[in-house]
Amino acid sequence: MRYYDKLIFELSRPGRSAFSLPRPEKDIPACGNIWRESALDLPEVSEPDVVRHYTNLSQMNFGVDTGFYPLGSCTMKYNPKINEEIVSMFGGLHPLQPASTTQGVRDIYSFMDKALAEITGMKHFTFLPCAGAHGELTGLMLIREYHMSRGDSARTKIIVPDSAHGTNPASAAVCGLDVVVVKSRPDGLVDIEALKPLLGPDIAGIMLTNPNTLGLFEKDIKQIAELVHGCGGLLYYDGANMNPLMGVVRPGDMGFDVMHLNLHKTFSTPHGGGGPGSGPVGVCERLVPFLEKPRVSGFHGNFGVILRACAYILSLGRENVKLAGRLSTLAANYIKESLKDCFKLPIESVCKHEFVFDGLLEPNGVTTLDVAKRLLDYGFHAPTIYFPLLFHEALMIEPTETESLQTLDAFIEVMHKIAAEAAGDPELLKSAPHDTPISRPDETTAARQPILKYSKV
Ligand SMILES: *Cc1c(COP(=O)(O)O)cnc(C)c1O
Repeated sequence: MRYYDKLIFELSRPGRSAFSLPRPEKDIPACGNIWRESALDLPEVSEPDVVRHYTNLSQMNFGVDTGFYPLGSCTMKYNPKINEEIVSMFGGLHPLQPASTTQGVRDIYSFMDKALAEITGMKHFTFLPCAGAHGELTGLMLIREYHMSRGDSARTKIIVPDSAHGTNPASAAVCGLDVVVVKSRPDGLVDIEALKPLLGPDIAGIMLTNPNTLGLFEKDIKQIAELVHGCGGLLYYDGANMNPLMGVVRPGDMGFDVMHLNLHKTFSTPHGGGGPGSGPVGVCERLVPFLEKPRVSGFHGNFGVILRACAYILSLGRENVKLAGRLSTLAANYIKESLKDCFKLPIESVCKHEFVFDGLLEPNGVTTLDVAKRLLDYGFHAPTIYFPLLFHEALMIEPTETESLQTLDAFIEVMHKIAAEAAGDPELLKSAPHDTPISRPDETTAARQPILKYSKV
């Protein structure tokens, strides 16, 4: 164990301190009973101890800033540092300060409303939702309100494909809608023949992710839109994975009525570990009256994320937004084609920003989990594993456009090496990772009963 792997409490020495301040001339007066009875149990350490503690901690984890992070469905693109610099200029903003002093912020919202409308083909956006799932719920509530406003109260069902992101059926259930599942065909797209019999006067709409969870563009989207609109339903677009389409095609033009974007994914905010997020919801013209007013709350939505997206869009410019979308598709197809000689590719067609392998072609007892763990030894984050549920050994790879050809090649070389190791020395993979601070935690206990607090034994 290295000296600085010790807990900061173990480095503590009584009386040691990281600051030097003059003693106050007068003692702080006792006021009421707010004084502590005993001193707070804080580590007593020097400034270098504090700096090394936090710097070392930061390096025990994996992040986009430390290496390639091909986590499918998450768009872990590199987040340009200029975004952070711009956000830091707004640190003094207070949600309750007078509107006359926040006009610049309102300009940013107005710009973002226009920019996102142009990118998506929707009419207007609300910036209140603070995550993708939050956007889904907001969008579904808008759909419900639209039907109710027309006295159409029988529309209580929402169609969701079996390949959908788990948040889709969950949001629908929270909104009080009944979920009807439509099957995918063997090629991974929505089965139109299975969709037709589900349509009727009880259908509020359909939620679609496009490109879908397998990274495939729903080729029949126009026909699906006609069918759903034909029965009086609306189309919800889960735009969490807008990355490959931005600047290329627009959900509004495909016939969608409501959608959300994940600004934290597509528009570059660091979002590991569950936050922060922003899931603005865009609507077509006929749903604009149902948006809550004002569309920017007193608390401005998740302003930091929206501002980063604004900086990102402005620094890319119109042409480069489109280029980013295209490069994300190129990178995914490049990896897919380069690795299908040793990983099982269940769906061959051209993908968008991501694709799914179903484990090793010749596993030799080695599972997708073992491959994922071994990748850490080579300095790469694992892809998304065991999702989507359509395959047993799913490895879902999303490289994003921010990686160079050399990084993609290095990843491809390592994946080939891992396939060779599986054939020659499967034990090496079963016991991986070997070079990380911890190896294989009990994932359930780590998630359900995490130990987040120091207690002296
Ligand atoms: C990430 C994602 C979501 C959920 O977004 P959150 O911000 O995590 O709530 C929904 N749908 C799809 C397709 C996603 O990839």
